[in-house]
Amino acid sequence: MGATPKTIGIIGAGIIGVTLARALQRRGLQVTLFDERDPGRAASFGNAGYIATEAIFPLAHGSILRSLPRMLFNPLSPLTMRWQEFPRLLSWYLKYVSACSNRRAADSIQALATIQGKAGIAWEALRSCEGLHNLVVANGAIMLYESDRGFNETRIRRDAQRHYGIDWQVLSGDEARRMIPELSSHIKHAVTYPAGMHVVNPYSITTNIFDRFVSDGGEFTKERIAVLEPTDTAVKTTSEAKAMRQFHAVAVSAGHLSGRLLKLLGYKVPIIAERGYHLETSYQKTSLNMPVGAYERGFHITPMSSGLRLAGTVEFSSADHDEEPNWDRAEILKTHIDEIAPGLAGAETSRWMGHRPTLPDFLPVLGRAPRHKNLFLAFGHHHLGLTLAPITATIMSELVAGARPSIDLEAFSLRRFNR
Ligand SMILES: Cc1cc2nc3c(=O)[nH]c(=O)nc-3n(C[C@H](O)[C@H](O)[C@H](O)COP(=O)(O)OP(=O)(O)OC[C@H]3O[C@@H](n4cnc5c(N)ncnc54)[C@H](O)[C@@H]3O)c2cc1C
Repeated sequence: MGATPKTIGIIGAGIIGVTLARALQRRGLQVTLFDERDPGRAASFGNAGYIATEAIFPLAHGSILRSLPRMLFNPLSPLTMRWQEFPRLLSWYLKYVSACSNRRAADSIQALATIQGKAGIAWEALRSCEGLHNLVVANGAIMLYESDRGFNETRIRRDAQRHYGIDWQVLSGDEARRMIPELSSHIKHAVTYPAGMHVVNPYSITTNIFDRFVSDGGEFTKERIAVLEPTDTAVKTTSEAKAMRQFHAVAVSAGHLSGRLLKLLGYKVPIIAERGYHLETSYQKTSLNMPVGAYERGFHITPMSSGLRLAGTVEFSSADHDEEPNWDRAEILKTHIDEIAPGLAGAETSRWMGHRPTLPDFLPVLGRAPRHKNLFLAFGHHHLGLTLAPITATIMSELVAGARPSIDLEAFSLRRFNR
């Protein structure tokens, strides 16, 4: 517990930085948001829009580790990497393997389930207090399984979900086809999640909240912050153009680039850019009114205001070294949907690649910087940044305001990589 800072700078205006800025503004702080780009233009722009509160199984898990070697070197599998990247990613992989041990994966499930347990309520609160009713839809969600193997190997996840009070219902292929008539006859099983929500335009979510922040007096500065200098009472920021500012506190929510600023302060931040793609198509507005996951193919189909968005797949990449997108990975999504639900998707209207900010244990970093009490950290939300943004803003604003956060943040501390 401590005194509330009066001024705070937030580095990064993605969904995490913007929702945090708004939450702190509501608590009466004077907030300045920094971003080198316009708000919401990075990973938060093109995601699948799925508020996936049932996702309590981090990707760091023994079952995924076992299938990793088979997938990694296949450039069109749901999860891959470019082999040239291997040396740069080696130390991350070693930490990932260690995070997949049974004990550590169980701890991660517990941590993720705890935060996810409050994520849906936080979204409902944000939706009503910011008037986002047209953008956030609560129609549930469905996961499809094309094989008995896929369905059976995920029973352990459903058992864990039940244990944590997450509601689901198993459907046969025929029952799923009655819900979504376009589904192919080879879909064998499905699971519905009645509490699932989705947003119909992820970019508009960020910009809507941002516009409210600015119209209520929040400041936005379009600059890249190059250096942070925390002292006992303040944090100085220096932009790439050498402009200096000073705040009582600073929060880092710079997505996959968060590590750069913290490494200069001596912190180890094993963060990578987990590249993902979307392809958007036209579609006839049919019975599809919820996100549809395709388990074996690792992507989601979400009806959006702009079209049908096919989004997902994983391409491990270094955070510091980016290459051109591999558009084959976006194009394969169209092949996938034509096989899963023939005729549902029309012609391609846009394509996109973005960087998920991902740590080896697939948990975000949330809390105070271990050695700097005026420096707050909220990054590394990997596949769940949209889902976890409102609860992150709630918890972090409690912490910044000197209150006890509504969940224990020890499992999310940067200390876990800096012992
Ligand atoms: C294909 C795909 C599908 C996804 N689907 C979903 C989904 O359905 N549901 C879900 O919950 N999540 C999903 N995600 C994950 C989600 O999009 C991310 O976790 C989330 O957008 C991360 O938000 P962020 O604010 O941390 O990062 P970003 O949106 O990347 O924002 C970080 C910002 O920081 C800025 N920045 C960085 N460094 C500096 C600096 N030094 N100075 C100033 N500014 C800086 C950047 O310019 C950027 O604007 C998906 C991701 C992908 C790629």
